[in-house]
Amino acid sequence: MKHMIIVNGLEAPLLRQFGCDCDRCNDSAPQANTSVSLISLGDDGETAHHILFDVGAGVTDSLRRIPYLAGVKARLDWLVLTHWHPDHANDMNRLLVSYRLSQQRWGKKETAVSLYCRTGTADWLQAEKPYPYNNFLQHHLSDENNRSGTVLPPVPIPLDGVTVTPVTVTHYGADRCVDDKTQTCYSCAAYVVETALTKTILLWDLDSENEWIVNPQTDVPQMSGEKTAVALLSNADFLFIDTSNWLSGGKRRTHPCFDNVQRYARALNPRETLLMHLSGHGSERGNAGWGWPNAKWQTEAQKIWAAEKLPGIVRVPFIGEEFEI
Ligand SMILES: [Zn+2]
Ligand SMILES: [Zn+2]
Ligand SMILES: [Zn+2]
Repeated sequence: MKHMIIVNGLEAPLLRQFGCDCDRCNDSAPQANTSVSLISLGDDGETAHHILFDVGAGVTDSLRRIPYLAGVKARLDWLVLTHWHPDHANDMNRLLVSYRLSQQRWGKKETAVSLYCRTGTADWLQAEKPYPYNNFLQHHLSDENNRSGTVLPPVPIPLDGVTVTPVTVTHYGADRCVDDKTQTCYSCAAYVVETALTKTILLWDLDSENEWIVNPQTDVPQMSGEKTAVALLSNADFLFIDTSNWLSGGKRRTHPCFDNVQRYARALNPRETLLMHLSGHGSERGNAGWGWPNAKWQTEAQKIWAAEKLPGIVRVPFIGEEFEI
């Protein structure tokens, strides 16, 4: 069996903003990439399994352009969510309703799609997206509310040769309880995808307070002597990482700025660092990062990478790009 990660696109850069005239918003092409598909091909070359990580607006259209999922080949076995925010969940209804209709049209047996997410995220989906959440999904929830930097049991996918392990991260805009927003319900996870050949990290939507990544003293020891989160995230082949603004400006941020990305890369030593979720809007007009299109992000990031002698390479992946894993 052959496994690959394919990068999906969204319709807008963190969502394209009404009334904004920056270069990113003025470009109508889909750009932001906080969604990937893990597609497995059988020895006969047929599409045998599909796990979708996050489903923001535009992901359904992005999936339609993946050749392994075209027409009768369309399949969705698992939907795995990092968290409930709209830019990660807003195409859920469109995707699941249209997939059900297509299965019927092709005369296929209707199969429920399995959902994995943290329980905090499931509570938000139940409240905000009850129709797709209740009608199309078989729920597999984490059933915990652990602090950041905890390795959770693997997602129970029945797929030989692939392990998907959630690691908890904080993202303070999302870590609220749906029934009492003053209370903390940890809702966000990063995912580590391991095969016999490669390790891939999907590390997006984490706030500026996940210091355990760079400070082993605050890394959470795991039960029964298993790997710590830092050990699990280290030495990856592909680190897909959230970068929202160029400079933090010393502020508390809901997303990592590029200065934190540098610190994380130095601590985790990935072979390729792939920038996701690029927006720049938080940098405010006139500052570095404001309105930068992907090409500018990549050029500026590569200059820093060379000057600071950071590990491996850094770049911005493109929509539809395939990574053999
Ligand atoms: Zn803009
Ligand atoms: Zn978010
Ligand atoms: Zn997001």
